[in-house]
Amino acid sequence: MPPVNAPYRPEGLLARPLYARVDASAVAHNLARLRATLPGAGASGAAAPRLWATVKADAYGHGLARVLPALRAADGLAVLHLDEARACRRLGWDGPVLVYGGLYSQADTLLLDTPGLHLVITHAAQLDWLAQSPAAARPSIWLRFAGDIHHTGFNADDYRAAFAHARSLAAQGLIGEIGHLNHYARADETDGVDSADARFREVIRDLPGPVSTSNSAAMLGHAARAAATQWVRPGLALYGASPFAHCSAAQLDLRPAMSLHSQVVGIQRVPAGAGVGYSGAFLAPTAMNVGIVTCGYADGYPRHAPTGTPVVVAGIRTRLLGRVSMDMMAVDLGPVPHAAIGSPVTLWGAEGLPVEEVAMAAGTIAAQLLTGLSARVPVALAGAGAAR
Ligand SMILES: *Cc1c(COP(=O)(O)O)cnc(C)c1O
Repeated sequence: MPPVNAPYRPEGLLARPLYARVDASAVAHNLARLRATLPGAGASGAAAPRLWATVKADAYGHGLARVLPALRAADGLAVLHLDEARACRRLGWDGPVLVYGGLYSQADTLLLDTPGLHLVITHAAQLDWLAQSPAAARPSIWLRFAGDIHHTGFNADDYRAAFAHARSLAAQGLIGEIGHLNHYARADETDGVDSADARFREVIRDLPGPVSTSNSAAMLGHAARAAATQWVRPGLALYGASPFAHCSAAQLDLRPAMSLHSQVVGIQRVPAGAGVGYSGAFLAPTAMNVGIVTCGYADGYPRHAPTGTPVVVAGIRTRLLGRVSMDMMAVDLGPVPHAAIGSPVTLWGAEGLPVEEVAMAAGTIAAQLLTGLSARVPVALAGAGAAR
């Protein structure tokens, strides 16, 4: 625990004592951990699945540039759109890049200017755009099955026609390899993928090309299904959060890559019956000491986190009180009588307080909190990639 009044100062000067810490070595550890769930090259000679490291949403809020050095061992990176693919290239990644959002318009084909791009194709117009595109980059494509999530992709009736169309583009030299991609709606459930995978396999039966299905939850919860593919696509678990409600990241041997730290910047003695915060959402049942922590919803802390959401103050677990405001929140100093102005506060990701637990208390998921960290929060880099 850092001593009181000695905040971590990543740039040497931090006017406000709120910062996130990103530990790239945790990402490297989590990547190795996920890789270890996959079989090695089997006796059958089947190769182990390759791994797309999902880095959309600026690496789930951690910063692509910060975590990329820790992802060198991935076989490819997966992003949402072609501008993100370009960012990967600018940062020196010259391996494959999978683009989940594929093409949003004909104009996007002008961005197919680098080799090694893989486009997820979700509707027929995208194939028409590719048919009229300059052939230079010859992207590989992955046809997405609508699956049991029904967000994007071809349904069972249209899939084979899309494949035939794609094949004709390949024959003209406009695209490279054609793969088959599915994304499960319920991979975090024990029996969540069996029927979804069976249905997908039925749709792609006898079609040539690699198969990709598994996100973090599918890799960690349905390893045999993941092992039967050619490419897996973890995201969340790379950043050290558990995709399961019933199983913690520590139990899965995942290490949190982001922690959020602040300080007590005010202490209020609140009389019995008085309200704390906007609308008096918390009423003090007895006279109590309340700490004010400089972190609010404009920093990405969820405003809907209720009284009782866990917070660690001076190494002791306590709770949020009342409504989170834009720049600050109130915490119960009852369990922390030694707290003072400058006492360190952990909001998530360290000192035994996983971001999943804060998310659960706030009725959301870890990925929303991680990707929601706001730009006004300075980030300190630790681990591999730091101080380079
Ligand atoms: C975001 C995404 C993933 C990664 O999912 P996690 O649950 O974060 O592991 C995989 N596949 C697709 C299609 C995605 O959009």
